[in-house]
Amino acid sequence: MADCELCGVARPTLCPVKVNAPSVLSAYPTGTWRGINEECLNSCHEANLNRIPSNSKKCDLCGIKNVPLFVAKIQVPIFQEPYHREVNKAICESCLEACEETIKRREAEKEEGHHH
Ligand SMILES: [Zn+2]
Ligand SMILES: [Zn+2]
Repeated sequence: MADCELCGVARPTLCPVKVNAPSVLSAYPTGTWRGINEECLNSCHEANLNRIPSNSKKCDLCGIKNVPLFVAKIQVPIFQEPYHREVNKAICESCLEACEETIKRREAEKEEGHHH
């Protein structure tokens, strides 16, 4: 099991998103991977379409600072009614694009699956 980087939900498999995390850029100059679940991937897709500016200081996925950030509405599970709450996360443009790449890759994989 692995925990989603955005909502913290543990899943057997997560969707890998390639990010350019400034903290590990020297070790991983071509980017590193963050695992998020499908729900959060969809939230990031929505965020990419809506492009609502966030006043947060730091990207919640890669940790980059001082770049334009956009609001992603993430459903975080809680243990009482209504069992989730909506949390605004801040995602940078580069991570939003990385999420789109992941979505495209997953769709391509699904297509592959149909042909076999
Ligand atoms: Zn999540
Ligand atoms: Zn980012």
